[in-house]
Amino acid sequence: TQAIVLASRPQGTPTAEQFRFETLELPPLAAGQVLLKTRYVSVDPYMRGRMSAAKSYVAPFEVGQPIAGGVVAEVVESQSDALPVGSVVVGNLPWQQHSVADGKSLNRIPTDKAPVSYFLGLLGMPGLTAYFGLLDICQPKAGETVVVSGAAGAVGMVVGQLAKIQGCRVIGTAGSDEKVAYLKELGFDEAINYKTANIAEALAAAAPNGVDCYFDNVGGPITDAVYDLLNKHARIALCGQISTYNTTEAPVGLRPEGKLLKTSTKLQGFIVSDYLPQWPEGVAKLTEWYGQGKLKFEETITDGFDQIPAAFLGLFQGDNTGKAIVNVA
Ligand code: NDP
Repeated sequence: TQAIVLASRPQGTPTAEQFRFETLELPPLAAGQVLLKTRYVSVDPYMRGRMSAAKSYVAPFEVGQPIAGGVVAEVVESQSDALPVGSVVVGNLPWQQHSVADGKSLNRIPTDKAPVSYFLGLLGMPGLTAYFGLLDICQPKAGETVVVSGAAGAVGMVVGQLAKIQGCRVIGTAGSDEKVAYLKELGFDEAINYKTANIAEALAAAAPNGVDCYFDNVGGPITDAVYDLLNKHARIALCGQISTYNTTEAPVGLRPEGKLLKTSTKLQGFIVSDYLPQWPEGVAKLTEWYGQGKLKFEETITDGFDQIPAAFLGLFQGDNTGKAIVNVA
């Protein structure tokens, strides 16, 4: 089968050179295992961290080994009673056209609730990140002002809609006028193009009553601007810092501690897997809201196994609106 392996570790922004296509021989199935045909591959910002050797909350990818991540696949041969041929599953699987996996490492997904690729987005890891980060860490209350950065991405667009469900005033930042228009369509009260606006002025105008909750996906200058608007007892969910993932030197910026102190702000970093035992509850709630039409979702789907590296690299240029997915048909 065709596989994409990590060819080398990137310095700074990754390029196509970091990926190599190889042909692998798959082993015969052992008891409990299934042969999978890959249908949808998720490309995610956190994979940039795994391309580096630095210690983090997931082990680095190994040079010369297939890259792996969220994949939706179909069972085409089975030695597992729980997963008959034709089952659709989601799992952490290698970037391969076919793969062999233990049935116990996979989750079977329904095919009648939503497009199956949504289990990599709204009803999967990104949706759960939004759900727990906003509802557990920020705990927004009706009437409060919520800011989310990276708002037109997979996590951000769910955060904003969940905050609207809670009755909040919602402000999003994103990197193009098209994304800003899309966020308004989704029901965001205000959306700001951080590439063209004076971010501090635009945020202050959009949040005349200050900011009670900040869901931070990006870090950097957008975050610096939000910190100037924090209200007393503000809550910050520190979810991601994509503006720094490709930097080679320690980012230099303002020292925000005084602002957090003076406002008695609570800031908490989190990893969605912190909430693993509660994932089923989160998926059920997100599925319910989606079924009721209270949550919408968007995907940017690229076609072709050979396009996986390009789709991944596009995350750092804002190519995607909503979840970046590759359709491996
Ligand atoms: P997105 O779908 O949001 O894709 C990434 C987006 O980031 C791009 O579309 C781009 O949009 C934006 N971006 C890229 N570079 C920059 C930059 N320099 N400054 C500001 N924005 C930038 O990805 P996800 O929704 O999957 O992830 C969003 C964030 O959440 C990431 O930081 C990710 O690492 C984090 N995350 C954390 C998890 C956790 O457990 N803590 C779990 C999942 C995600 P634009 O056009 O707006 O620039």
